[in-house]
Amino acid sequence: MAKYVIVGGGLAAQRGAEQLRRGDAEAEIAMLSEEATPPYDRPPLSKEYLRGDWDLERITLAKGDTLAEQRIDLRLDARVEAIDAAGHTARLADGSSIAYEKLLYATGGRIRELPLPGADLTGVHYFRTLADAEAIKAVAGPGIRAVIIGAGFIGVELAASLVKLGCQVTVLEVAGYIWSRFLDEELAGYIQRRCEDQGVRFMTSVSPTAITGAAGKVSGVAYAGGEAPADLVCIGVGILPNVELAQAAGLRVENGVVVDEFMQTSHPDIYAAGDVVNYPDPIFKKRRRVEHWGHAEYTGALAAQNMAGERKPYDLLSYVWSDVFDMHLEFAGEEKDFDQMALRGSLADGAFTVLYLKGGALQAYLSVNAPPREFRVLQRLIREQTVVADKLEGLRDRATDLRGLFS
Ligand SMILES: Cc1cc2nc3c(=O)[nH]c(=O)nc-3n(C[C@H](O)[C@H](O)[C@H](O)COP(=O)(O)OP(=O)(O)OC[C@H]3O[C@@H](n4cnc5c(N)ncnc54)[C@H](O)[C@@H]3O)c2cc1C
Repeated sequence: MAKYVIVGGGLAAQRGAEQLRRGDAEAEIAMLSEEATPPYDRPPLSKEYLRGDWDLERITLAKGDTLAEQRIDLRLDARVEAIDAAGHTARLADGSSIAYEKLLYATGGRIRELPLPGADLTGVHYFRTLADAEAIKAVAGPGIRAVIIGAGFIGVELAASLVKLGCQVTVLEVAGYIWSRFLDEELAGYIQRRCEDQGVRFMTSVSPTAITGAAGKVSGVAYAGGEAPADLVCIGVGILPNVELAQAAGLRVENGVVVDEFMQTSHPDIYAAGDVVNYPDPIFKKRRRVEHWGHAEYTGALAAQNMAGERKPYDLLSYVWSDVFDMHLEFAGEEKDFDQMALRGSLADGAFTVLYLKGGALQAYLSVNAPPREFRVLQRLIREQTVVADKLEGLRDRATDLRGLFS
């Protein structure tokens, strides 16, 4: 019997396994992944890996023989089909079962499918896995017309990488401008223009109606009033958390698997981590589910510590980054809930920070090529929910030293 069973083979699972080993040198640890490849990093898939700058070795999370040395029993192509929470067993697709004392549920998310006619044509791809990146890489290149449906972070990163590979890229976005959840039209226009300068074409307020093709192969994306020709279509319209197994096992599920601050689910011997969890955020005092690398890494390790007997509560200010051409973006905090925006610096400088406030307190920031030394102060202000509305003049002026302003 494995003392610990981990369901999933992503970052949260990998960090969980490493931490469990750190906490217990002897325990049997089994990691069950439905993927064919050992755990790898997803962020480079749409960036360095797609462009061919990094190889598989570089994005593999456990290098060389680390898993064997740590005696982590990684099983690939091992999809878990059911969890019997009362009986403490997990059943795999091949019919075998594995018993556990404690289980870490780290199943992440899967792409949200777009129910469009023609979505099954050759040349239409979603983007989440290494296999997706390989498939796109195999066809991307000079002269290829690529249409990306959805201008989220990943859609825009894909656009930048495909342009660098020589493709002619068009991005279709249903909203009036990109990233409209957290940018106003002026800021979004700036990001768009920076991408357009590099050759990306954006079509906003466009809702695709069908993917067109001939002889089983894609030829375009149709929308009301027109069609964008395409040899390659990438759909990036978000993910859904893989909660079904947890739900069937009787765990509490509500926009993710519900956990407490210790990453413990509604069953005391099952913990969860990563993109799949709905957790109580201590800073914003509400439940959240985030899809961030840093959160998956942190919660994988945190859940494992608590599975091994500790009682450490969640204490992370969530953050995410993105790289688009020469723009490095850093986001921290809760950007979905604000009533005021302020700009530190100016768009003309090419380096600025968007500040998000609620009730005068700093909730989040999004920086574009801003100096990292400022992040620490901003993060402290968010963590402490400091009211900054009375210091907006200084905050807006990039020349003002933040440490001095909030000493
Ligand atoms: C292309 C891309 C770019 C990204 N870029 C950034 C970025 O720049 N910055 C950032 O902060 N975040 C980024 N992210 C998000 C970040 O990668 C995720 O938040 C993180 O990978 C989540 O890790 P996870 O382990 O929770 O889930 P996942 O990575 O989804 O891993 C879950 C694993 O569990 C497996 N699994 C699911 N169900 C079962 C089952 N029943 N049995 C067995 N195995 C199962 C899945 O196949 C998968 O291997 C990006 C994501 C993608 C896809």
